Amino acid sequence: MKTLQERIQQDGEVLSSQVLKVDAFLNHQVDPVLTMDIGQAFAQRFQGETITKVLTIEASGIHFAMATALALRVPFVYAKKKKAVTQEAVYSVPVHSFTRQETYQISVSQKYLSPDDQILIVDDFLATGAALLGLVELIQQAGARLVGVGAVIEKSFQPGRSLLEQAGVRVESLARIAEMSPGQITFIEEAEE
Ligand code: 5GP
Repeated sequence: MKTLQERIQQDGEVLSSQVLKVDAFLNHQVDPVLTMDIGQAFAQRFQGETITKVLTIEASGIHFAMATALALRVPFVYAKKKKAVTQEAVYSVPVHSFTRQETYQISVSQKYLSPDDQILIVDDFLATGAALLGLVELIQQAGARLVGVGAVIEKSFQPGRSLLEQAGVRVESLARIAEMSPGQITFIEEAEE
């Protein structure tokens, strides 16, 4: 997605060869126009698929799931990182966070994922794949069908994409970073949709 790549070049900050800061427009301060365009782009990539629900994880995936779900006219659900007192029976799995260096238990109420669901997962980053593989496992626990995964930014030099593909998951990323260093970001160029 050209506009996204340009925005990353313009406002992204490479903190190290592994970590990209995008909190000026993506995951702290948020550009709503770009966010809605991202939702449309995911809906377009998965055109022709039956999708009954979009799934993400709090907090940075929520606005992208919202934008995608709106484009698809389906509900979205976000996995919680802490179990709420109001939550009843849940599907749950431990996930190790790359950025925070901690492990937490993500969960979704069993009421909101069912074997009839055909699910598109959406998240801000695909890095080690831990978060998205956790969401894939929640879907398996529910007996629902996974349609695919949409990542806003993929750091293609990290193992996430291959782990998901090895698990038979279709991955669509809107900006794929081949390599980066402070002041320099190189994208994997793809035919523009
Ligand atoms: P993964 O589980 O694929 O390693 O990454 C999961 C989460 O870590 C992403 O959803 C994102 O919130 C965060 N993350 C991973 N890499 C980066 C990065 O380079 N920059 C930022 N800002 N967050 C990242």
